[in-house]
Amino acid sequence: RAKSDGRGLFRVFERGMDTKLQARRALELDLRAAIELQQFELHYQPLVDVVSGRVSGLEALIRWKHPERGMIGPDEFIPLAEETGLIVPLGAWVLHQACTDAVAWPGDVKIAVNVSPAQFKGPELVTAVLDALTLSGLHPARLELEITETALLSDASGTVAVLHELRAKGVRIAMDDFGTGYSSLGYLRSFPFDKIKIDRCFVREIETSADCKAIVRAVTSLGVSLGISTTAEGVETSAQLEHVRAEGCDQVQGYLFSRPVPARDVLVLLGHCIPSAVHETASTLAA
Ligand code: C2E
Ligand code: MG
Ligand code: MG
Ligand code: MG
Repeated sequence: RAKSDGRGLFRVFERGMDTKLQARRALELDLRAAIELQQFELHYQPLVDVVSGRVSGLEALIRWKHPERGMIGPDEFIPLAEETGLIVPLGAWVLHQACTDAVAWPGDVKIAVNVSPAQFKGPELVTAVLDALTLSGLHPARLELEITETALLSDASGTVAVLHELRAKGVRIAMDDFGTGYSSLGYLRSFPFDKIKIDRCFVREIETSADCKAIVRAVTSLGVSLGISTTAEGVETSAQLEHVRAEGCDQVQGYLFSRPVPARDVLVLLGHCIPSAVHETASTLAA
């Protein structure tokens, strides 16, 4: 009897595992179909120049319009897309869509696209970027690729070679979520990045934590020394804006200015929604 109880328990455990795997498998099938059906949408969030108050670029952020589950954020499916290799066709779609959308914007507005470490594994990334530029007609200097430090963790020399190849075509390269990975400073030596995006965890506590403030200050002065521009992510309040401005960040991004908006709202945002907070900052500086 004890034996069969044990077996019963084991079966329950096994069934539990089954359910998890099945849910993952179902999501993977959904994701595969979603790529075929193009059930994705890019939303765009402004990158605001601190001194001028101008929107100098927008970051493309992917959403999945799931037929039953509604809008799903990237944190819920990008990891699975990376594990299954689906990130390669998905990433190519993002690049193409973002460049195509950006062609309709004023010529001095850049487009930032997130590129996952998994996209550096095969030879497809350079092709995907060049195809997106050629088919859309976007000038390469308007495209900025955001990569995280984890892209440089494994096979750093392969990744760095790809980055150099892209840079040679005129594309800009930004390091995303700076300060959250490993040995960040070492990675800054491995490639001449155009931009550092300071992770929002430092901005969130900039008013209350002397450490966070010191880190933001150190990164911006490092940026000045190395000739790399700095962007503060996740600016939600005007107090945070004041702090990151005082610490010397060149650019800001966050809910204070705008949440990510659908492509159709970008031109309206560029024309009419100069964020009042930065506007005030700009006039303060001009005065
Ligand atoms: P990320 O590249 O660091 O993008 C910034 C994230 O912070 C976005 O979340 C954005 O909506 C959010 N955010 C912006 N301002 C604020 C703020 O003031 N407060 C708070 N709390 N959050 C803010 P989202 O859209 O959920 O994207 C999450 C991550 O998913 C991105 O982080 C990026 O790593 C990844 N991701 C998004 N789109 C793509 C894509 O097309 N390809 C790849 N490979 N990854 C993507
Ligand atoms: Mg990003
Ligand atoms: Mg980021
Ligand atoms: Mg992030």
